[in-house]
Amino acid sequence: MTTTSVPYRAVLRCIQGCAGEHSLLEPIYRCPACGDLLEVTHDLDALRDRSAGSWMRLFDERYKRTTWPYGSSVWGKQEWVCPEVDADSIVSMDEGGTNLFWAERFGQELGVGDLWVKLCGNSHTGSFKDLGMTVLVSLVRQMMRRGVAIRAVACASTGDTSASLAAYAAAGGIPAIVILPRGKVSTAQLVQPLSNGATVLALDTDFDGCMAIVKRLSTEEGIYLANSMNSVRLEGQKTVGIEIVQQFDWEVPDVIIIPGGNLGNVSALGAGFDMMEALGVTARRPRIVVAQAAAANPLYRAYRNGWHFEPIKAASTQASAIRIGNPVSIDKAIRTLRRYDGIVEQATEAELADASARADRTGMYNCPHTGVALAVLTKLRGRGDIAGSDRVVVISTANGLKFTDFKLDYHRASVAELQPRLANAPLELPNDYDAVRRAVARATAH
Ligand SMILES: *Cc1c(COP(=O)(O)O)cnc(C)c1O
Ligand SMILES: [Zn+2]
Repeated sequence: MTTTSVPYRAVLRCIQGCAGEHSLLEPIYRCPACGDLLEVTHDLDALRDRSAGSWMRLFDERYKRTTWPYGSSVWGKQEWVCPEVDADSIVSMDEGGTNLFWAERFGQELGVGDLWVKLCGNSHTGSFKDLGMTVLVSLVRQMMRRGVAIRAVACASTGDTSASLAAYAAAGGIPAIVILPRGKVSTAQLVQPLSNGATVLALDTDFDGCMAIVKRLSTEEGIYLANSMNSVRLEGQKTVGIEIVQQFDWEVPDVIIIPGGNLGNVSALGAGFDMMEALGVTARRPRIVVAQAAAANPLYRAYRNGWHFEPIKAASTQASAIRIGNPVSIDKAIRTLRRYDGIVEQATEAELADASARADRTGMYNCPHTGVALAVLTKLRGRGDIAGSDRVVVISTANGLKFTDFKLDYHRASVAELQPRLANAPLELPNDYDAVRRAVARATAH
């Protein structure tokens, strides 16, 4: 295993370009001068001490191996992610390295010959949030070891962030507080932080309301903020794009479709591609598409309105993790989409449910957010924005197993105003061979 003694360096800077930089080991979430978001910037000149080819070889050598902590595909790229964490502060549960699923049959149905689904939900807590949480919790552990006063880590969540935070905090021995909108996350997502021993506060509000409260806690109570407003998480999430390119033997796909809510993940995706380009690993850019639920579509509206953004009140959607009306990373996301020839498209409740079910019929098991992305793929292919020859990657953000009610409601046809085209309810039969034989005959008749 090759290691290096070059001191790589990353700092937090204001996205508006205000002067000054801050250490990643400082609990700071916004620019003290203008109040806007911060972002991590890396010392690219130091990273140029290795050639592009040498970085690719190093990342390939480490990929899914056992030398701590490099077997995690996030920490296998540590120099590009978070150089300042010591190996013994790292809290890792083997992030990344997830299946890039070749969606052959679904692609054939849509007329997309080269379709892939990046299954980020095949992860420790079942969503891509683990990619970022390992970085955040590792930084917190290092801060606490150095005597920074942090009472707990906390987040507001539409479900997956809290599941991930609770697990990583528990693994690192750090108290966690999660604030959820009561009745608006799935049962599995609620049970996860409870099981990991987090303090779970269910409030009578929506995600945006929970966010306002946790922000106050982080500025007034010595609580470390784990939402994506804190950009250190995005450094880990950034590896998803790098890993996709790595899985294609360092070739760039034509189009990447990603469901977006708070819009940290699309910003992270763009940041990963920016970094590969800056360090010579890639020479071209993919087109990036953000998929939103029609019920919670502030970015879609901005896209249709010359990138003029206005927050909205998000309505109820089955894609509960992207029910966000006032996304914190809106400016970063728009910047990314401008650079990556971006498209934003939306999907209705019926469209997302049918797309998810249709793709399930070809062997997947999609969460509703992935359903949004698949519905958008179907639309873009239909109107020719995606060509039949394009290599397309859909980012699947969570594991379908967390969304049993979504699946069950669909197959039982129990969602109001929704006619499921592919409902597949169990046939309930007596304990009788002939009844079974007749049912099999009906099922296999052409
Ligand atoms: C968090 C989440 C999203 C949205 O990611 P953002 O960074 O908020 O845009 C999408 N899908 C799932 C399953 C998520 O958990
Ligand atoms: Zn600033």
